[in-house]
Amino acid sequence: MLELKNIKKSYKTGDFIQHALKGVSLKFRKKEFVALLGPSGSGKTTLLNIIGGLEHYDEGNLIINQKSTKKFKNRDWDSYRNNCIGFIFQNYNLISHMDILSNVEMGMTLSGIKAKNRKRKAIEVLKKVGLKDHIHKKPNQLSGGQMQRVAIARALANNPDIILADEPTGALDSKTSMQIMNLIKEIAKDKLVIMVTHNSDLANTYANRIIKMQDGEIISDSNPFKEKEEDESYQIRKTKMNFFIALHLSLNNIRTKKGRTLLTAFASSIGIIGISLILSLSNGFNEQIDFFEKNILSALPILISKQSNLDEDFMTMQEDMTNIEDYPDVDYVIPSDNTEEKYIHSNVLTNDYVNYIDNINKDDVIGINYIYPMSLNILQKVNGSVKQIPTANLNITTYPHSLNSNKKMVIEERFDLLAGRMPTSKEEVILEVDSKNQISKDLLEVLGFTTNNNINFNDILNSQIILVLNKDYYENLGNYYIPRQDLNSLYENNDNLILKVVGIVRLKDDYPSIVSTPGIYYSNDLQNYLISINKESDIVKAQKDADYNVMTGEKFDLTTKEGKDAKENVLGYLGDDVEPSMIEIHPKDFTSKENIVKYLDEYNENKNEEDKIFYVDQANLMSSLSSNIMDAITIVLVTFSSISLIVSCIMIGIIMYISVLERTKEIGILRSLGARKKDIMRVFNAQTFIIGLTSGLIGIFTAWLLLFPTNSILKELTELENVAIMNPLHAIILITISVILTLIGGLIPAKIASKKDPVIALRTE
Ligand code: ADP
Ligand code: MG
Repeated sequence: MLELKNIKKSYKTGDFIQHALKGVSLKFRKKEFVALLGPSGSGKTTLLNIIGGLEHYDEGNLIINQKSTKKFKNRDWDSYRNNCIGFIFQNYNLISHMDILSNVEMGMTLSGIKAKNRKRKAIEVLKKVGLKDHIHKKPNQLSGGQMQRVAIARALANNPDIILADEPTGALDSKTSMQIMNLIKEIAKDKLVIMVTHNSDLANTYANRIIKMQDGEIISDSNPFKEKEEDESYQIRKTKMNFFIALHLSLNNIRTKKGRTLLTAFASSIGIIGISLILSLSNGFNEQIDFFEKNILSALPILISKQSNLDEDFMTMQEDMTNIEDYPDVDYVIPSDNTEEKYIHSNVLTNDYVNYIDNINKDDVIGINYIYPMSLNILQKVNGSVKQIPTANLNITTYPHSLNSNKKMVIEERFDLLAGRMPTSKEEVILEVDSKNQISKDLLEVLGFTTNNNINFNDILNSQIILVLNKDYYENLGNYYIPRQDLNSLYENNDNLILKVVGIVRLKDDYPSIVSTPGIYYSNDLQNYLISINKESDIVKAQKDADYNVMTGEKFDLTTKEGKDAKENVLGYLGDDVEPSMIEIHPKDFTSKENIVKYLDEYNENKNEEDKIFYVDQANLMSSLSSNIMDAITIVLVTFSSISLIVSCIMIGIIMYISVLERTKEIGILRSLGARKKDIMRVFNAQTFIIGLTSGLIGIFTAWLLLFPTNSILKELTELENVAIMNPLHAIILITISVILTLIGGLIPAKIASKKDPVIALRTE
């Protein structure tokens, strides 16, 4: 039961006020076919829209089921349109991107009716209007009459009590008009149909009540409602559109604009591509650095040498005590006490300390190397004549020895054996060549070769080095000792040690060349043996007692530290039992390196400053530097790429706004079918959601594809394999960010869409 009480409506355009309805009072029966007849501009459409809840009256009252609509909220109007009203428009107003079936289902979709029931009902009404064979066609594949039948089917589908038709045959030829009119008349048997027309013939032929309007007023009513007539009521169900329906609706719309959607998604995916590539790269680099740190840098031994730089903490502490500011802006120089030695610490590598190192956890260490300053007295037959070989500038030194006799030696772990075998006795040495199998000519001379040609491994393995003990090497001349000159007999001496090269090794290509230097390597056993014999030699004994260098006559001032050190150096050179000049500790891996460092730190606890032993952890120095740089680069690049994300966010906003303009009509239709403002927002949010998701997926997929060329380029440049690795978590986060950002970008356009006046929206083409 529907009643209009003194309804007034006016439009204001600028200063001009158009009174479209000037107080219309009408009552309708539950079932009748009413024709609203009147000239153009008389207010028929306005009246119809007010009855249908598309527009709201300024004054008066619209009474539905004895209930005033004055207190109706938007929500109530939406439900009212959805359940009680079926609209039929002159220009059909079908949603063009949806097929006939979906168009007819739309009202039911909005009221949350299940898909199965929806479809059954829609087919039923389509059958009724004679279109059951066309249900999968799009509106533009139908004739005008057929489209109007679809509109009628849609109006009927949700079984409303009132059908409002605004010039339904206005765009049709007379024959088709008659068919449509018959259909509407049929419907009017059990519904209230209010039809606007300016064609009085049609009104007279089909309607059972004709209301004439002029200038916003009713001028006649052929069959007014009488008070005693029966009075029945309508029921109103609330409408709601869930997100999946909105998604479905937008998917349909997007399907008609595949190209544009893909292009938009691709453009806005560029930021995602950038960020995910950068993250993949930094990911991979960090992993490489980790690997480097764990496997390669740990191959760098911890060094304990007689002189060591103090650690950073200690240095800053010292600096802070001076009260002089850093980088002063002054034009004078400040004298300071022993600036050079301030940060240099003399490690006293006592027997105690050597014992402490010997007691290190054997499982953490694959080798220890004690390097003494002793020089080797080497003779070699070069081109048939015996020569003394000066070794001072050659890398002839000890290789690390294993603490566990059953464990592999460091050399076996880190070197490839190119020829021969590993040494097993103290007379056996190995030759290390560089990555190009090169060895310096000076070192080759030690082995007796003076050729520019390549030398076969076998020839090298057959070579030998004559090592002369001090007692034989030096002859006494009063207070001095000089090397003997009769080299041939010295060469034949029976006490000489004959060193044999038993193996040729090369650093494995996993390790950077800093891990080792080409040279001749002998065992700690040989070193210890030589020291044990040489320290008893006459020259060492004489040097111990002398305050001058017994080989050169140079005086030592033994009252000074420098003098004492100089004498100590000569003794070390001659093979006396002095402190080692360097201890190398080779950790097993990264974790054991940490353990060793802890062990070395423990030694220093509660020690006086001068008794502390400082070590150099080379691996730590290198790795902390590289990973810090990596982090900084990543932050900078990600920031740059983020800008492109923001840009794409704005772009999405613009594209959504265009889409809102394009879909204005659809918004109007949906509103006329009872969609709430919220639902309209959902439709657009669903659209941006799809674009955001697509662009995220495209971005991640493209970035993933780009990893392959990136990695192969990096392999060319750096020899590192699979540097760029995509973290799946990053991928998911980036897709989420893409969705959220596009949603934000589309929010304002979606809001604009939802605020559109349904009547104006319906009028746009
Ligand atoms: P009809 O359907 O009888 O031709 P309408 O109800 O569409 O007439 O319009 C009645 C009057 O109100 C007309 O003068 C029209 O120009 C005016 N009008 C209708 N809608 C608007 C609007 N949104 N803004 C301004 N004027 C309007
Ligand atoms: Mg009109």
